[in-house]
Amino acid sequence: MRQHTLARSFLVRGIGLHTGAPAAVRVDPAPPDSGRVFVVGGVEIPALLDAVVDTRLATTLGSGLARITMVEHLLAAMHAAGADNARITVEGPEVPVLDGSARIWVAAIRNAGLRPQAAVCRPLTITRPLRVEHGDAWAELLPADGFEVDVTVDFPHPHIGRQSWSGPVTGEHFHQLAGARTFGFRADAERLWASGLARGASLDNTVVYDLDGVLNPGGLRGHDEAVRHKALDAVGDAALLGARIFGRLRAYKAGHALHRRLFEAVRAEA
Ligand SMILES: [Zn+2]
Repeated sequence: MRQHTLARSFLVRGIGLHTGAPAAVRVDPAPPDSGRVFVVGGVEIPALLDAVVDTRLATTLGSGLARITMVEHLLAAMHAAGADNARITVEGPEVPVLDGSARIWVAAIRNAGLRPQAAVCRPLTITRPLRVEHGDAWAELLPADGFEVDVTVDFPHPHIGRQSWSGPVTGEHFHQLAGARTFGFRADAERLWASGLARGASLDNTVVYDLDGVLNPGGLRGHDEAVRHKALDAVGDAALLGARIFGRLRAYKAGHALHRRLFEAVRAEA
């Protein structure tokens, strides 16, 4: 299986979820074996596990003093599309949140197209089960013929509750995840805003639940949008392994931090 990069460059503009500041991303083709690399203020930050510096509200990568946050939706779209090598130049401290999903990234990658390169993909084959836990949350990787996710959320909220999504992370199936938006709860949103965080968050890019349902006038993109977004985030975090994964990721009430611990365990085995 050959490595791929983009057939041509693309540019996407928006605002950052956390700062509310304008943000622009230019994605350019890159040579074989270079991987996906962010460029922030001239500093290169490889989109790899070692570069993760924060996982609290989103996945943040860093190198020296340079930081880039909210990388997971773009990386999920690139990983699912099979875009192995890319140079991702970002103006601003965040990848733009856009509509809170990966839909625009998927469309941009599709429009740009992919080009095969003269190097083979680096496979990461899960040969025995690996598992990490935190309280009642857990995440595990099991052997499989391709990359699959099987994600369950369980929120004590009348409009989410327990939801599961499972499937292979390939073009057609990834479309079920790509449009699922970032979500949060009204009380948390008010607390974040009071702390000066999530300043770019609005109903244009975040599904906000309160006890009566969702505040977004257009409602949900499907009753299970919450779990599909969690599966999207899991694909974005898995992209930080920088390889084609042959394994089934199962996760229960997991998030960026638990995914990171699992992938670090995977890498320690490799
Ligand atoms: Zn997300």
